[in-house]
Formats: sequence, structure tokens, C-alpha cells
Amino acid sequence: MKNIAILGSTGSIGTQTLEVVREQGDLNVRALAAGRNIELLEAQIREFGPELAAVWDEKDAVKLRQKVRDLPVRVTAGMEGLIEAAVMPESELLVTAIVGMIGLRPTAAAIEAGKHIALANKETLVTAGHLIMPLAKKHGVSILPVDSEHSAIFQALNGESGNRISKILLTASGGPFRGKTKEQLRDIQVEDALKHPNWSMGKKITIDSATMVNKGLEVMEARWLFGTPLEQIQVVVQPQSVIHSMVEFEDGSIMAQLGMPDMRLPIQYALYYPQRRPLSGRRLDFFELGSITFEKPDLDTFDGLRLAYEAAARGGNLPVIYNAANECAAAKFLDRKISFLNITQIISGCMSHIPYRDNPSLDEILDTEQAVREWIESRW
Ligand code: NDP
Repeated sequence: MKNIAILGSTGSIGTQTLEVVREQGDLNVRALAAGRNIELLEAQIREFGPELAAVWDEKDAVKLRQKVRDLPVRVTAGMEGLIEAAVMPESELLVTAIVGMIGLRPTAAAIEAGKHIALANKETLVTAGHLIMPLAKKHGVSILPVDSEHSAIFQALNGESGNRISKILLTASGGPFRGKTKEQLRDIQVEDALKHPNWSMGKKITIDSATMVNKGLEVMEARWLFGTPLEQIQVVVQPQSVIHSMVEFEDGSIMAQLGMPDMRLPIQYALYYPQRRPLSGRRLDFFELGSITFEKPDLDTFDGLRLAYEAAARGGNLPVIYNAANECAAAKFLDRKISFLNITQIISGCMSHIPYRDNPSLDEILDTEQAVREWIESRW
């Protein structure tokens, strides 16, 4: 039995991770952490029996303790609780399915405690890849990608160590507004942006997909995960979302990973790597699919992707500024406080105004995040 802990167990990735646990039957869940959804967390505690559960707010922890007082589970709260769940001595692997930069400290702590990481929380590598990857190497732990594109690249690289990559071809669905002009995006409402054509995901990443900021974050994530220079990472729009990404080697050969758009597959692959296990669900039917098409991304309309390349190329704390500004702006859009197009305007504004710092430490990353939040709050 492999022992695991999950941060963000009540979210889209967290619940699908638990579906895999339920279906496979040989994973032992030792700790679960969530934000505010204590009803679902209680149900998960009853079904999976972890020894530790963490929630963000102490008041929710008090309520949850009351609800599960008949069970042998300890309930903790706040960042301390998240870290405790992440470093639990009994678990070998941590699934980071929490959303946002809040995942940074617990992930770093888990690596230092020798846990392998099934990484969904892309914000961790985007903002601190320069610290996280060497830390993982130092502690001999694996960072196993859960993001479908990165899992595809990881799978395409299987057995290829020593062979040189000439290009990573990171596929993108293009989101719900593919083909639209900036003018047409002016009056986009939250409901429109939450309708992703192929994937069902948490709200923040769905908005990031609509702005294509998600693809920008994935470019930065790929760069750290696979050590590939930015110029060798190309985004290819593939609207059917069946090619999850590709790798071109120096002999011109291209390896692709294909499958139905179903996040349980990359989650399961990360949990059992290098083993493949049976997985229920539909299979890709090429006759039904008919064709797979490709387009260039529109970097003028979706300037969030262009800004990501700029942030990654300039480096330092710019990816932190890009990410923190996006987290803040996407939340404001979801609260209907700003327009859809304001999201990337805010990112661009922060990238020009927040002071640059080279090679930021963990504390400096969090200081930058704070500076970004204050700058946005004072203006929007
Ligand atoms: P969701 O919004 O569905 O879930 C987020 C999870 O994080 C929830 O369990 C939420 O708890 C928890 N959470 C939020 N804030 C806190 C907090 N302060 N303390 C503790 N827990 C907290 O997000 P997704 O599952 O969609 O995404 C999770 C991560 O995975 C993101 O980084 C995303 O980019 C990445 N990812 C997601 C994919 C997907 O298909 N969904 C695909 C690839 C990557 P609660 O709901 O209880 O408040």
C-alpha cells in the first residue's frame, strides 16, 4: 500500500485523485487538506479515514472537529496545518492539488521531508522553480507532473534519457474564446468564461484557460520540469484536446501522448509511475473524432501568453509578479469587480511597476506577491 497525502482534496483535481484511490483500492490516504468546503471534507474523512485533516480557517477547524468527533482524526488549521499535512511522516507522496501560490511553502516543506510530489499546483514551479527543482534534486525526490500537458511530455520522454530534445510542443485547446477578436472579448461575462469547451476544472484555472494565461503558466512550468530553454517551447493550438503535448527530438522524430480529456489519467500515472494501471472511462475513437487540427496561438488577442514568455525571458521575480497579478485579477473578475480584458492589463501593469529582483528567495517571492496585491488593491 502506498501512503499519500492530498492538499486541496475538495477541488477538481483533489476529488479526481480520490476517485483514482477509490477505483484502485491500494492507496492509503494519511492526510487531507482543504479550504472552506468542510461538508465535503467530512465525507472524505469518513470514506478514506486519514489520521490528519487540515482546513484554512480555525473557525472551520472547530466546526469540523465537532462533526468528526466520533473518528480518530486530528484536525489542524492555517499554513501550519497545511505544512503538517504535507510532511506527515506516514506518507510517501504528496498530491499538491491546492490552487495558487499558497501551495509553495507546504510543497517545499514536503520535499525537505523527503516526500515525492505529484504536482498539480503549477503556481509552485512558475514562481519558485529555481528553488524547488534543486531542492528536489538535493533530497532525492521526484516531481511527477499531474498537469495533462506535462504528463504527456513526461510520458513522451520515457526511455529517452540521454537523447536531445529539439522542441517541446505544448498543446492548447485555445479556450472558449478561440478565434475571437479583442473587441469581441470586451463584454465577456463570468458565465461565458467558465464554459471551457473540453475540460471541467476549478474556477480559477478555467478563467486562466479563457485568457490563455494558463498556457503561459504551463510554458514556465515545462521549462523548470524538463530543463528546456524557453525558445524550445512552442505552443500549438489543438482545439480537440486529444493530443496532450508532444516532444520533438533532434532527429526530427516527434513523440506525442494522446487520450480522452480526462484528468484521472495523468493523476493515476503520477500516483503509480512508472507503472500503468487499468482506468475506467471512454477511449479515444479516431473514427468518431474524424480530424485533429492545429493553429498558431493568437498572441495579440491573448496577450496573457505573450506576457508569460516576456516574464519567463526576463526571469528574476517577474514570473512571480505575473502569477500573483493573475491570481488577484482572476479572483476580481470572478467577483465581477473587473472586466475580462482588465485581467491581462493588470498583469502588464504589475510587470512594469513592481520592482525587479534577481534570483528571489522564498521570502522574497512572498514579499513580491504581497507587493503585487497591494499595488492592485490601491488601483483596482
Ligand atoms: P479547485 O478550485 O477545484 O480546487 C482548489 C482546492 O484548493 C480546493 O480543495 C480548495 O478547498 C483548496 N484551497 C483553496 N484555498 C485553500 C487554502 N487557503 N487552504 C487550503 N486549501 C485551499 O482547483 P483545481 O483542482 O482546478 O486546481 C488545483 C491546482 O491544479 C491548480 O494549481 C491548477 O492550476 C492545477 N491544475 C488543475 C487542473 C484541472 O483539471 N482542474 C489541470 C491541471 C492543473 P475548498 O474548495 O474546500 O475551499
